[in-house]
Amino acid sequence: MPFPRMHLEPEHELFRTSVRRYLQAEMADKVDRWRDQGHVDRADFAAFGAQGWLCLWAEEEYGGPGIRDIRYDQVLQEETIRWTDIGFFHNAHSMLVGPYLDRFATPEQKARFLPGAVSGETVMAIAMTEPDTGSDLAAIRTRAEDMGDHWLLNGAKTYISNGIIGDLFVVAAKTGAGRGQIGLFVVTADMAGFSRGRHLKKLGLPAQDTAEIRFDNVKVPKENLLGDPGAGFAYMTECLAVERTMSAISSLAHAQAAFDVTLDWVKERRAFGRPIGAFQNTRFVMAELRAKLDMAQAWLDQCVVLANDDRLTAEDAAALKLVCSELQGEVADQGLQLHGGAGYMDEMPIARMFRDARIARIYAGTSEIMKEIIGRALGLGEKDLR
Ligand SMILES: Cc1cc2nc3c(=O)[nH]c(=O)nc-3n(C[C@H](O)[C@H](O)[C@H](O)COP(=O)(O)OP(=O)(O)OC[C@H]3O[C@@H](n4cnc5c(N)ncnc54)[C@H](O)[C@@H]3O)c2cc1C
Repeated sequence: MPFPRMHLEPEHELFRTSVRRYLQAEMADKVDRWRDQGHVDRADFAAFGAQGWLCLWAEEEYGGPGIRDIRYDQVLQEETIRWTDIGFFHNAHSMLVGPYLDRFATPEQKARFLPGAVSGETVMAIAMTEPDTGSDLAAIRTRAEDMGDHWLLNGAKTYISNGIIGDLFVVAAKTGAGRGQIGLFVVTADMAGFSRGRHLKKLGLPAQDTAEIRFDNVKVPKENLLGDPGAGFAYMTECLAVERTMSAISSLAHAQAAFDVTLDWVKERRAFGRPIGAFQNTRFVMAELRAKLDMAQAWLDQCVVLANDDRLTAEDAAALKLVCSELQGEVADQGLQLHGGAGYMDEMPIARMFRDARIARIYAGTSEIMKEIIGRALGLGEKDLR
C-alpha cells in the first residue's frame, strides 16, 4: 500500500473522484487519437474549461473559481496522467503560463486574457527557449524594441509546448543590451508577423504538440507588456518554482503509474515455474522503488503545502524537480527491465512510459541546472541561472 497522503483533506479526495469519473467517461478513449495526430484537440481544453478546471486560481470576476490551493491542481494532474496521457498539457496552460498573468498582469490585462484562458477558448503557451539557447536564458536573442506606441518583436523560439494549438504566448524577449535584460510580452497568434514553424517529432510525449514559432516585425501593443520591461528574468525565476513543483507532481504521478503496471506484470508473468515477482531480485527492485516513491511523495506533498503559502524556495523547487524527475526515469527503466522483451514493445504501456519519462530530466530546467541552482544556494558558483 502506498504511504497515506497526509496533506489532502476529504474535499480533495471528493474532487479526485469527480475528476476521475469524468476522465474515464469522457477523455480516456481519445488518447489514441491524440497520440496519432500529435496533439490534443482544442475542444479538450474547452471541455476542461466547461468543468471549471482551467486556471483554478483565477478570480470569479475573470470567470474562475478563485481556488488558490495547489492540492487541487496536484489531484487534477495526477488523475490526468493516470487516466489520459501525460502529454495533455492543460497543466502548462493553467500553472506554467497562467501564473505570469496572475502575478504580473494589470486588472485590465486580466480582464482581456483570463476569461478565454479559464473557458479554454484560448490555449496558452510560454516561449522562452530559442534555437541557440535554453539553459542560458539570459543569452536569448529575440528582441523587443520600444517604438514609442508599440514594441517591435523579432526572433525565433523552439520546443514550445502547445505551440501548434496555442493562441496566446507569453514571450521572453531582450529589451536592452544588458545581459538578462528581458521583458515578457503577451503575443497572440492572430498578430501580423507571428508564424508557426515545424510541428516537431519527438522521442516521447506524442500527444503533446511541440513547435517552433517566429516573430517577424510583430507589432506588440504597449498594453501587452507584463510588468516592468527589464524585470522578466526575475519574473521567470519567481514563476519557475511553481513550474518545477508542477513538473515534480507530473513526474511522480507518472512514476507511480509505471510502478503499478510493473507490479501487475511481475505478479502475472511466470518464469522457471513461478511468477517473476517471486524472484528475490524482483522483490528487491520493487521494494526499493516503493520506498523511494513513498519518500519522494511525502516530500513533494510537503512542498505543495509550502508552495501554497508562497514559501517554497527556488532551490527547494529545484531539488524536488531533480529528485522526482530522476526517480521517474529510474522507475520507468527498472519497470521496463522487469517486463523483459515485452517491455520493448510499443503495445505495452511501460514502453511508452519509458520514452515519455526521458524529457522530465530536461524540460523546466535540466537536472544539471537544478544541481547548479541547489549548489548556488549553498554559496557555491554562478549567479544568473534560473
Ligand atoms: C518536449 C519539450 C517541451 C518543451 N517545452 C517548452 C516550452 O513550452 N517553453 C519553452 O520555453 N521551452 C520549452 N522546452 C525547452 C526546454 O526547457 C529546454 O530544452 C531546456 O531548458 C534545456 O535547454 P536546451 O535544450 O537549450 O539545452 P542546453 O542549454 O543546450 O543544454 C545542453 C546540455 O548542457 C547542459 N548544460 C547547460 N548549461 C550548463 C551548466 N551551466 N552547467 C552544467 N551543464 C549545463 C544541460 O544540462 C544539457 O545537458 C521544451 C523542451 C522539450 C524537449
